[in-house]
Amino acid sequence: MAEMMADSEMVAGTAAGVAEAAGTRSAHKITLIPGDGIGPEVSGAVVEILEAAGRATGVSFDWHRFDAGADSYEKTREYIPKALYESIEANRVALKGPVTTPVGGGFSSINVTLRKKFDLYANFRPVKNLPGLQTKYPGIDLVIVRENTEGLYVGLEQEIVPGVATALKVVTEKGSTRIARFAFEYARKIGRKKIHAIHKANIMKKTDGLFLTCAKRVAEEFPEIAYAEHIVDNTCMQLVMNPWQYDVLLTENLYGDILSDLCSGLVGGLGLVPGANLGTECAIFEAVHGSAPDIAGKGLANPTALMQSAVLMLRHIDEIRAADLVQAGIEDVYRAGKTLTRDVGGKAGTMEFKEAVLLAMEAHGAMEAHGVMEAHGAMAAGAVARG
Ligand code: NAD
Repeated sequence: MAEMMADSEMVAGTAAGVAEAAGTRSAHKITLIPGDGIGPEVSGAVVEILEAAGRATGVSFDWHRFDAGADSYEKTREYIPKALYESIEANRVALKGPVTTPVGGGFSSINVTLRKKFDLYANFRPVKNLPGLQTKYPGIDLVIVRENTEGLYVGLEQEIVPGVATALKVVTEKGSTRIARFAFEYARKIGRKKIHAIHKANIMKKTDGLFLTCAKRVAEEFPEIAYAEHIVDNTCMQLVMNPWQYDVLLTENLYGDILSDLCSGLVGGLGLVPGANLGTECAIFEAVHGSAPDIAGKGLANPTALMQSAVLMLRHIDEIRAADLVQAGIEDVYRAGKTLTRDVGGKAGTMEFKEAVLLAMEAHGAMEAHGVMEAHGAMAAGAVARG
């Protein structure tokens, strides 16, 4: 779990620690975007889990809830309400469910718009097996660090003449250098050994070429971390044949998006893999997956990915005990393997899975309390023996 702590330490302040030292524990103000499709189902489950973890560890949350996308437009005529922008700006932390983006037309992606608006330049996605869950690839433990604001996602597309459309890919020295630095600093802090920069500079010589030049330059400042470059198509094959060779994948925007789904498949699917969008001021935590319209409203969605995103968020706001408790609850349920959702081979629905995690967390809490009492008992016995 140490690696999940790293991003928070690098980007977050330690508000909770300061408040605790001062003897005050105010509620964490968190902007909540439930999203659409399976978003409300998974985020509902996650809020319940966080509330329970909060009660067990003395943490409270003040949720500021907003719609975004088509749902918001229906009510407010704004795809992203002004109040939502203001809320993220003030709270600096948001938990977000997926939001549907229309294909081939319609409004721009809410997700991309928020990342650009708050300059959340680092998309951090740890990909790791869960205990007890059988997959074709055991022992995966890699991290995708994706540049989140540039590349082909700048949205500069046009139809030149009927039948000819172009898209502009924007890569800057500043953007490439800061994402490379993020990846290397993270690797240094956590003790990760190797970074692969993923590119297509054989074809996109200027854009991906610049991305590589910047990554290479930053790599020189971190001699203890091995640096290599892989072309993205080869990377896809390598990930299927031998994913264990990778530690940290440093990617520009589009490749990171595609490789995230591929890597999710290695550990059991999109229902599992969490993510964080990190900037210098704000952070938005969301799963890798989308709104999954094929299963929306059926109570089948796996909330694990958003739960693990919430664990990243708890670490970011320095609520380590609550984060550990939620993670332990999730892992216990996977270890037991009895109440898993269908995407990972079980029969449970979203709510049953959530209930199982709640019970597992309760058991952990009880064990912790028992351990504390035992420790007190031993200390008392020691005192008696000495006395
Ligand atoms: P998707 O991730 O929504 O779904 C892909 C497949 O994975 C589907 O079969 C789905 O049922 C399954 N799946 C995804 N999450 C799951 C979960 N938690 N539990 C169980 N199964 C799950 O990808 P898509 O269908 O390509 O995209 C749907 C919509 O989501 C699109 O509008 C897309 O733009 C949007 N999207 C949003 C985000 C975001 O909000 N950050 C990210 C990706 C896609």
